[in-house]
Amino acid sequence: MAEILEELKRGKWPSFVKELEKTGDERIWKYYEKCLVDKKPYFGHGGIVGVTGYEAGVIGRVAIEDAAKILPEFHLFRILPPAGLFYKTDVIRKICDWIDKWGCKLLQFHGATYDMQAFGIPREKLDKAFEELAKIGFDLGGSGPDIRTAACCVGPALCEWALIDTLDIYTTLMKEYIFDVHRPRFPYKFKIKISGCPNDCVSAGTRSDFAIIGIWRDEIKIDENALKQYPSETLEMVAKRCPAGAITYKNGKFEIDNEQCTRCMYCINVLNKALRPGDDRGATILIGARARGRYGAFLAWVLVPFIKLKPPYKEIKELIDKILDWWDEHGNPKERVGETIYRLGFGKFLKDIGLEPKPQMVYRPRANPFWKYF
Ligand code: SF4
Ligand code: SF4
Repeated sequence: MAEILEELKRGKWPSFVKELEKTGDERIWKYYEKCLVDKKPYFGHGGIVGVTGYEAGVIGRVAIEDAAKILPEFHLFRILPPAGLFYKTDVIRKICDWIDKWGCKLLQFHGATYDMQAFGIPREKLDKAFEELAKIGFDLGGSGPDIRTAACCVGPALCEWALIDTLDIYTTLMKEYIFDVHRPRFPYKFKIKISGCPNDCVSAGTRSDFAIIGIWRDEIKIDENALKQYPSETLEMVAKRCPAGAITYKNGKFEIDNEQCTRCMYCINVLNKALRPGDDRGATILIGARARGRYGAFLAWVLVPFIKLKPPYKEIKELIDKILDWWDEHGNPKERVGETIYRLGFGKFLKDIGLEPKPQMVYRPRANPFWKYF
């Protein structure tokens, strides 16, 4: 193994190069080594590669130039994960046996797509491999211009801050839209991400087309006795750093102006023994984020400031359906929904899907590309 790869094996931490080595397939690290030495990736899009009856879920990866002599193809199999990425160990063992049998013994837990990804299943074995995967109880995730595999945080299963049941919402929406996960028919990808609170551990507000983020709309609950346990310097610092200027700390009195609070969670995270989100809980829906694109990176915009959520989440599904219909009609190829809204205007979008403009949609007019003052 070349020095450049040996270097990546050094140190106390787990090394992905050691894992590549364990596969016993020399072609994999030789290919990787070539990419590192030449400073470029050699995998091109492998065209439509799929399993019978599905049009999405397997990403064709075909090596280009002389890298094709090392590793001609290395398809990537996206597997729809359970909500919150909770697996029983016996299931993980079955999946490991499955990839050992069909692929190159490499699994990725989990990529930015939220899918579990399995590598190196040859084209001619894809159908058979999928049949066996289905017997373990798994299905394919999304790829291409479809509804992508959604993502949700661990929510109420592990986190005290969960304001909505992220796991149930994820499972319900994936069941509802599974047909559109498997069959690309939209202008481009459509990602749904669900975070249980504004800490937004799955980056819904920055990385998803449709973000559902748990929120409260009444007042932050204060435990005055617990608050007294904090040093005044900490309380001063929190008041100073509140991004909405909603906290005052004077003469030993700590007060929150809940009308000004933008529910960022900062004070609650710091003073977590004394402050709690309110009890009137629901979600904020945001639209249109993407990391990069023809107009640059977009943060999501507030679409519905507050909505109560309860199963079967009929209002959420109706809203998603309206957005998808609108985008399907107006979107250009390879245009994410946020870009279509940007091109045609937020006003038109709201009018077409039947939503009223709300003050929360505009945080700072000059920083918001939808609003112009002449
Ligand atoms: Fe917990 Fe909030 Fe993070 Fe979800 S987003 S894991 S509820 S802190
Ligand atoms: Fe300020 Fe954020 Fe606390 Fe609201 S949640 S009071 S905006 S720090």
